[in-house]
Amino acid sequence: MARTYDSNNIFARILRGEIPCKKVMETEHALAFHDINPQAPTHILVIPKGAYVDMDDFTARATEAEIAGLFRAVGEVARQAGAAEPGYRILSNCGPDANQEVPHLHIHVFAGRHLGRMLN
Ligand code: 5GP
Repeated sequence: MARTYDSNNIFARILRGEIPCKKVMETEHALAFHDINPQAPTHILVIPKGAYVDMDDFTARATEAEIAGLFRAVGEVARQAGAAEPGYRILSNCGPDANQEVPHLHIHVFAGRHLGRMLN
């Protein structure tokens, strides 16, 4: 069953400007900012502006424009970070078994070092 969106989660508060972030990019549908606890030299979070708990919720309810807007932003963030070459990793934790900490969909963009086979 889909989880209920908590409008007081930390990323909702960042979107409302109640909490600061180190902004990388903003578009109509997405906001990108540096992770507060980076796991790689480049560690950026890209989030939709709409209220979606996780990838499951997003792919069930978001419009085509929102979905395209989020993924275009991910690609643009990686290019702007100079990460398209030699490469980068994207990751999105969905739900408790994935240890999702913040219940607003976010896509991690990791780059700047060899990332090995997996991050966990
Ligand atoms: P998750 O485990 O949910 O996939 O990842 C949540 C991420 O959000 C973590 O990498 C964590 O460091 C980051 N994070 C948590 N709180 C904040 C915050 O207040 N600001 C920023 N920029 N990142 C945060």
